[in-house]
Amino acid sequence: MPRLELVFRHLTDYIRSIMTALSFLPDIESITPTPILVAPQPVLRAVAREVTADDMALVKSHLPGMFSAMYKAPGIGLAAPQIGLGLRFALVDVADEGERNPMVLINPEIIEESEQLAAREEGCLSLPNQYAEVIRPLSVRMRYRNLEGEVIEMEADDLLATCLQHEIDHLDGILFVDHLSKLKRNMIMRRLAKEQKGR
Ligand code: ZN
Repeated sequence: MPRLELVFRHLTDYIRSIMTALSFLPDIESITPTPILVAPQPVLRAVAREVTADDMALVKSHLPGMFSAMYKAPGIGLAAPQIGLGLRFALVDVADEGERNPMVLINPEIIEESEQLAAREEGCLSLPNQYAEVIRPLSVRMRYRNLEGEVIEMEADDLLATCLQHEIDHLDGILFVDHLSKLKRNMIMRRLAKEQKGR
């Protein structure tokens, strides 16, 4: 078989397997969203553990409910600890409205970050209705495993870079308010507690 065809075959098999893993997406609106935990839930403050090959079935079983919850919110990222699962994986989709670009990041880590910083307003599905400007590196290089277990490296900037850093923070028990002054953080946490009580 000519080399090109081999590569092509491999790529189609690969795309097909990704499509199979996320084959629930066209029916996402009919899938019950997994409840998202709201701060100060202790699991949001715990360091999640690495996903192993043995965890993959569990990870995949949570994807439909997690994607449903993320799209319904709507949000652009959701990390496993936010549904009470202490495993290092997260979903991300920063596509424009009406489009979809779902990503599942397993054991993601930042391996490089720019010196240049950027301020961007952030929110979090675990801190509903709370927003603040957070300063982070403008661009990052990240390494993760995809659903096939392959190691992928990618560069990201702007919104995607912010989103990736925010989600990886969740895997280490860090919330976006931790990047703010203590005064601002306490103000937001008090406001959140008050709003949650009034629900
Ligand atoms: Zn968040």
